[in-house]
Amino acid sequence: MRHEIVASGVKVEERAGLFDDSAQQDYRVMRGREEQPKEYRMTRWRMEHAVHGFGFAVGPFEPHREPWPEKEDPVTVEFFGLGDDTVYVKSDFVAAEMINSLNYFQRLFGKYPYERLGTVYHPRRFGQGLASLLLLPKADRESKYTFSFIAHEAAHQWWGNIVCCRSYRDQWLSEGFSEYSGVLYTGLRDSKKSERELIRYLRDSLKVHPRGSTQRMYEIAPLVLGNRSITRKTPGAYFYLAYHKGALVLRMLHFLFTDPASGEGQPFFDMLSDFVDQHRGGWATTESFIQVANERFPESALGERYGFPDLNWFFRQWVYETYLPTYRLEYRLVGQKDGSVVVEGHVLQEDAPEYWLMPLPLVFGFGGDAIAHTTVIAHGPKAPFRLQLPRRPKKVELDPDHWVLSAETSTGKLR
Ligand SMILES: [Zn+2]
Repeated sequence: MRHEIVASGVKVEERAGLFDDSAQQDYRVMRGREEQPKEYRMTRWRMEHAVHGFGFAVGPFEPHREPWPEKEDPVTVEFFGLGDDTVYVKSDFVAAEMINSLNYFQRLFGKYPYERLGTVYHPRRFGQGLASLLLLPKADRESKYTFSFIAHEAAHQWWGNIVCCRSYRDQWLSEGFSEYSGVLYTGLRDSKKSERELIRYLRDSLKVHPRGSTQRMYEIAPLVLGNRSITRKTPGAYFYLAYHKGALVLRMLHFLFTDPASGEGQPFFDMLSDFVDQHRGGWATTESFIQVANERFPESALGERYGFPDLNWFFRQWVYETYLPTYRLEYRLVGQKDGSVVVEGHVLQEDAPEYWLMPLPLVFGFGGDAIAHTTVIAHGPKAPFRLQLPRRPKKVELDPDHWVLSAETSTGKLR
């Protein structure tokens, strides 16, 4: 059976033949064995870019190649399956998801630098995203889990390879960012409903008790503890924290960099592609990411509105601490003589220290498609607010899309 060798980078040489090892041959004759000389296959690969790791796979693979059309330098996307697509993996499905992912992430995070992207089937139950080489298990059934899983691995080209992490304390930049990239991709590729369901799953997973532990997942360790959160009692903590909480913390930054009035989130992606550019082919740390976010935040709509000079308060709370607050907005509507309406009340914050601070989205529905977005600040156990609206809203809801991580978020009327 012919075996293929697939590796990171570009193949520059391939040779095959029989081992010419006369010493071995003499040994075999001496021992009276009549073995056939062994076949060999040798390939040489070149990686033009600085990467922290290099991977390869050997197996009876059958390549499926598709060009990823880019104007200046075409990139080939390859899937190395095991042949029969009806039994093994649908090659054209995986190749199409790779191309869609590359298109989307390149637009969001900046240029894909490698000459090709190879994906290899491997018979394990996890994926691996090495520079220009992905290892994927059987993942070819259309579902939100498959879309987000494949896109997670593809996003590792940016998070983990183009930008590498310096230590375990920075690993959430790779896994959390890839996880959130997969969620965003699923929202576009599949549906907004699938995106919402994935977010709910990530949020709920942080509230479970690992078996044998009295703590809940979010309490076990802050994000920066990385894989040191794994203990005999909490074997899954690293996965839930770096992947799930990491994704949800990045999503909160997505909210903080978005203009609540227009819904324009481009400043978030500009910040991320700036982060990629500043670390291309090098190491990033949690602190170097904070620096990029800090430089850009004061110019964002919410940065200007609240006059925050930086995001240090945000990162201290969500990356270096372990709290998971509960938010509740209580409000009343007061009609004014000119026909306008004042919305007043407070935001309650539980299970967080006094200093805990967080802006949250507040959404008003006026019937039909008429919706207005603004934000309120939670600060300490009870923070008052007062807003004026041109007319009476039919619906008032605190963070209905769960942009802000919490144990629970709810809205109620004051009597
Ligand atoms: Zn990953």
